[in-house]
Amino acid sequence: MTDALLGVYNRAPLTVSHGQGSWLFDVDGRRYLDCVAGIATDALGHANPVLVKALAEQAAKLWHVSNIFRIPGQEALAERLTGASFADVVFFGNSGSEAVEGALKTARRYHFANGQPERIDVIGFAGSFHGRTYAAINAAGNPSYVEGFGPRLPGYVQLTIDDEAGIAEAIARPTTAALIVEPVQGEGGARALTGEWLKRVRDLCTQHGVLLIYDEVQSGMGRTGKLFAHQWFEGVEPDIMAIAKALGGGFPIGAFLATREAAKGMVAGVHGSTFGGNPLAMAVGIAAFDEIAKLETLSHVQAIAALLKSELQALAARNPDIVSEIRGKGLLIGLKLIPNNRDFMALARDHDLLVAGGGENCVRLLPSLLLSEAEALEAVKRLELACGTARERLAKA
Ligand code: PLP
Repeated sequence: MTDALLGVYNRAPLTVSHGQGSWLFDVDGRRYLDCVAGIATDALGHANPVLVKALAEQAAKLWHVSNIFRIPGQEALAERLTGASFADVVFFGNSGSEAVEGALKTARRYHFANGQPERIDVIGFAGSFHGRTYAAINAAGNPSYVEGFGPRLPGYVQLTIDDEAGIAEAIARPTTAALIVEPVQGEGGARALTGEWLKRVRDLCTQHGVLLIYDEVQSGMGRTGKLFAHQWFEGVEPDIMAIAKALGGGFPIGAFLATREAAKGMVAGVHGSTFGGNPLAMAVGIAAFDEIAKLETLSHVQAIAALLKSELQALAARNPDIVSEIRGKGLLIGLKLIPNNRDFMALARDHDLLVAGGGENCVRLLPSLLLSEAEALEAVKRLELACGTARERLAKA
């Protein structure tokens, strides 16, 4: 192992060689059932032939061209995204953090364009995750992400999801620009907000001229069984939305979407990206979109998610000393644990199952959207084995 890499990741002792569908293989040929899927990026499984073909064909033609020229792939993917959502316009970047940055810039710039430059405050929530750039860590406000990175940026207000009165008061302030929230908190531990919560906040934002931003970087692109998680509910559409992860099926792409009105301050010259929207990313993004947005894919996600949910609830009932709650939405599933979640991830790995960590001592399952029924049942079987080992460890401790 080299010490030439910055040590910012708690890396598991697993060196991945290659992947196929829902499976990952390490360099020794050991096979793991992958319920991390690149942390919700590899939504169509590993080495999906449709995406491989799209990427290879584009790679043979043109990799990159400056955004000072027209890029047909961007136009095609933007039209797909606006056709399937509340949005009128799209801007492409390279990651979720970058999408969030652009979304926040768009919100402040909207009020600037309206002659209200004093509206700068962004309301964010405890348990949120919006990425690791400065605006993103300040919007989410998790103390462990901001500590040691200088003063908290001004213009960010932290609330808790349950603080109804605080939310109403903050939205009504004349300095508030926007509210950013994940319809399903991912890193926070697969916590799904209710339709009532979203509707209430949507209505308050509309009433007070505050822009509503959804961060659907993790919950979007089919993960919950709708193209976007908020589409489960009526009348809760945002003004701006950040997406990434599954948008490229594992290839790096991010984007923010907005209504034409909300984006009115984002005129030529005020924002940009060298690599954002490059032809390679767009070719894969179009192929991924066409696969994910299919009714049969979304129905499959709903069916597999329902199966997993009921099997996991039964597992939790059989193992009440290990699993205290099953939560989340669609294939963004959290198991709230009694033993330490990091230890449990290692135990699952010993049983050839890969799961992700999450807030509130959860482990998350974020498998390929194409996970088969047999694979879903296999994941539950391996979780049960991990529960057994966890119980033995607890008894010895
Ligand atoms: N927003 C959410 C909801 C996320 O889950 C993530 C990443 O996990 C991000 C933003 C940041 O995305 P990226 O790591 O691509 O910058």
